[in-house]
Amino acid sequence: MVEGGRTGERVLRGIPVSPGVSRGKILVLSPPSEQVIVKQHVCEDDVPHQIHRLEQALVDTRHEILEVQRQVSEGLGAEDASIFDAHLLVLEDPTLIEEVSRIITEEKVTAEYAFKQVADKYTKTLSSIDDEYLRERAADMRDVTSRLLHKLVGHTEEMDLRKLSEPCLIISYDLSPSRTALLDRKMVLGFATDVGSKTSHTAIMARSLRIPAVVGLQHASRDLTSGAYALLDGYNGLIIINPTDQTLFEYGQLVRRHVTLEEKLQEVQDKPAVSLDGTRIVLSANVEQSSDAEAVIACGAEGVGLFRTEYLFINRETLPTEDEQFASYSQVAAALKPNPVIIRTLDLGGDKFLSHLQVPQEMNPFLGWRAIRFCLQQREIFRNQLRAILRASVHGNVKLMYPMISCLDELIQANKLVEEYMQELRTEGVPFDGGIEIGVMIEIPSAALAADSLAKRCKFFSIGTNDLIQYSLAIDRLNEKIAHLYEPTNPAILRLIKMTVDAAHKHGIWVGVCGEVAGDPIMTPLLLGLGVDELSVTPPILPQIKFLIRRLKMADARELAEFGLQSESGAEVLGRAEAYVRQVAPSLLEEQNRSQL
Ligand code: PEP
Ligand code: MG
Repeated sequence: MVEGGRTGERVLRGIPVSPGVSRGKILVLSPPSEQVIVKQHVCEDDVPHQIHRLEQALVDTRHEILEVQRQVSEGLGAEDASIFDAHLLVLEDPTLIEEVSRIITEEKVTAEYAFKQVADKYTKTLSSIDDEYLRERAADMRDVTSRLLHKLVGHTEEMDLRKLSEPCLIISYDLSPSRTALLDRKMVLGFATDVGSKTSHTAIMARSLRIPAVVGLQHASRDLTSGAYALLDGYNGLIIINPTDQTLFEYGQLVRRHVTLEEKLQEVQDKPAVSLDGTRIVLSANVEQSSDAEAVIACGAEGVGLFRTEYLFINRETLPTEDEQFASYSQVAAALKPNPVIIRTLDLGGDKFLSHLQVPQEMNPFLGWRAIRFCLQQREIFRNQLRAILRASVHGNVKLMYPMISCLDELIQANKLVEEYMQELRTEGVPFDGGIEIGVMIEIPSAALAADSLAKRCKFFSIGTNDLIQYSLAIDRLNEKIAHLYEPTNPAILRLIKMTVDAAHKHGIWVGVCGEVAGDPIMTPLLLGLGVDELSVTPPILPQIKFLIRRLKMADARELAEFGLQSESGAEVLGRAEAYVRQVAPSLLEEQNRSQL
């Protein structure tokens, strides 16, 4: 985060993840150290695991603090960095660690609960002593507690964001995708978080809800206080506290330009997505819930390219039944008939969890028990969902898609289960579409490399670039510190996409892209030039992509893609792609790059 700006105002710079400008009072959600950790008992056998979690969290927190210390030392000097010595001492305090371990063992509670008990007691004692030095130590204790609890449980804010009394800009350390999904659009004018990146599910949700958002602000939730007046610029990733009249004037102009663009986009609403030289591209929408069907129709999409079914499963105490899922899937299918609706099977794990499923914490959730891996082992959950999708298939043009396929064997296993449940439904006399098309998400490098054998056994591919880029470039999609390394134009990524497209076309199947790059205008010519047949994007962005497709030539797009495949630098490819989009549709990029701030 860089701070700067004009007199009277303060600018915090993060990562823009959801476009739009909003202004209002800010509401800072309480930092994690002030959160309630519910007392949860564990069984005797789980005690060693809890002790292990504690030890691991201590080690991880220590590494984190050492890293902060190193950065501060580089930036401000060793003296300032020495304040973190006190934090490290807290983590090494044998009395504290022994006491936490004793509580876990004797009371049979979780590591986080035991740690919070002891830490709160220490903090209270230290802050009540009339000695400035010791009061400082209480602040250290709070800081360390917050970091350590974050390692153990992530963040669970207490405030119910559905019950806000006035419109505001939310500032928070983090917002889970499930909480973002619950935000009230009328009350939440925008939000900004300390962590996150463009492809975190929280960011995807913000775009889908059309809430302007900025992530990766690093310390905003600590530095800002509720009640201040601010402007949030979701185009450029800025929070401007106390904006001056000049800034407000400039933003007024920017919003007016945006309105002009919206009018131009309206003109292509009912027109097809055809390039100037006559190539037709299918534009579909990504949805998260059945109520999104209206938005799909309104934005002019030709169906749903990705229905993320996880959101049916989160924010509730129990799993959705087969009937409930059937109702949701068939509602979307019927609303969009005859256009296709691609229903992706459950992609839990990573940054999407169910609190009631008791999925064990993992060191690397994105590399862990996620998506198809989870479903192939949780047969009952998978069965309910597959049966619901199959049953919904008679109400419209339903297609089925598996997430996170890493090898042929997973596709074969999943297909076998589909066959088995089809047989069950046949026996029960329940109707379904026996010819339902099944597709595979290509989002793991091994799947792109094995695309040839996968293509022989499915009807379509959809490239999940969010994960494909995350796994290929080894960039955690939630980590704001490395978000700048996330590079869709990296030639390695372009080659994986090309390999996937070539394998698909060789076997006569189509290939789409449903990751966030499908909705990034700068990527559009590259993707089309690589031979992608379909783009599936969040509904609010779709008109922009169509507008651009209608202004570009496939011949140029192919040339650009060829350049990208041969290039040795993602930055060089980005420069060329951006220059091309500026040339054919300059108004699409006007909101970005407010370099004067
Ligand atoms: C992707 O990985 O690109 C994708 C579309 O899936 P998700 O973002 O839900 O992981
Ligand atoms: Mg994915």
